[in-house]
Formats: sequence, C-alpha cells, structure tokens
Amino acid sequence: APSASGPFTVVLLGDDGVGKTALAGIFAGAADSMQCDYEPDGGEVVEQHMLVDGESATVTLLDTRDSLNTDCCPQAGDAFIIVYSITDRASFLRAAELRVLLRREREPHHTPIILVGNKCDLVRRREVSVNEGRTCAMVFDCKFIETSAAMQHNVWPLFEGIVRQLRLRRDSA
Ligand code: GDP
Repeated sequence: APSASGPFTVVLLGDDGVGKTALAGIFAGAADSMQCDYEPDGGEVVEQHMLVDGESATVTLLDTRDSLNTDCCPQAGDAFIIVYSITDRASFLRAAELRVLLRREREPHHTPIILVGNKCDLVRRREVSVNEGRTCAMVFDCKFIETSAAMQHNVWPLFEGIVRQLRLRRDSA
C-alpha cells in the first residue's frame, strides 16, 4: 500500500492524439525539481512533488505511448487517468474499453480511476457531450472531469483530485 505521501504511480491511458503528452507536459512544467526520463518501452515518466490540502505528495506520472499495450499498465499503477478527446467519439469508445480492461484487473484493489474529456476548448468540434462523459463515468464507477491542456483548464484540479482519491483509499485501507 502507498505511504502517506506516496510516491503514487499514476498512469495515463487513452488513444493517440487525445492529449496525454500535453497533460503530462503541464504536470512536468510546474516543478523545479522535475525529472524526465524515458522508459524502455518508450513511455515518459515524470516525478512531481505536489502540495494538496496542505499535505505534500509525490506523484510519478507514466505517459504510456502505446495505449493498446495495456498488459504492462494494470499492475504498475496506483491510479489511472483515462483520457479521451471530446472532439473524437472513437477515443471515447476506446476509453470505455480501457475502463473495462482495468476493471477486470483492478477491481479488487479499489484503484482510483478518473475519466478525462480533454480538448474542451474545441467547442465547435465537440462530438461527445458533457452528459455522455458524466454518464459513462457513473456507469463505470469512476470520477469525471473535462480539461483543456491547450487552455490549461482543469489540469491541476485533475491531478489534485487523483491525490485526494489516493488518500481516501489509503485512509480507508
Ligand atoms: P497524445 O498522443 O495523447 O500524447 O496526444 P498529444 O498530447 O500529443 O496531443 C495531440 C495533439 O492535440 C497535439 O497537436 C496537441 O497540441 C493537441 N492538444 C492536446 N490537448 C489539447 C487541448 O486541450 N486542446 C486543443 N485544442 N488541442 C490539444
């Protein structure tokens, strides 16, 4: 089980082009003590110290390059961020698929999962409504948030939310 302040390993999943690298870049950009490494499988790893509700936490973010290669991920993460683009319905369907895969692996561990509808700045190209995203998250029993990496909207609330969920799980363990 993770300790009080982590390090927590958080895995980014989702179709190509939905904005995982952009979200990880914002996460990385904020730190003085930022570390950036490349995994052997081509994924990127960013470690970040965060202060959430007055308590510090260390988060290791894994940006998986190949979202189809989920074999490695279910074991690796304390929490998962499943990203789709609100402008791409196929990526939304892929997110639901990933959720099913994760559920099969992670249900007994009560692993926090958050469904993220990114690119919410692209209002005219929206293909997935807020309600669809919210309903999907409800059905799959995970949290939901819409973000824009381009506008840096809701990106920190996303990462802070993950830390809060990890602490809740820790505190109820
Ligand atoms: P990844 O394949 O999931 O890592 O996706 P990337 O982070 O590489 O993003 C794919 C493309 O979408 C890039 O051209 C990004 O600049 C763009 N992008 C990412 N997030 C957003 C966003 O929130 N809004 C807009 N308008 N473009 C975005």
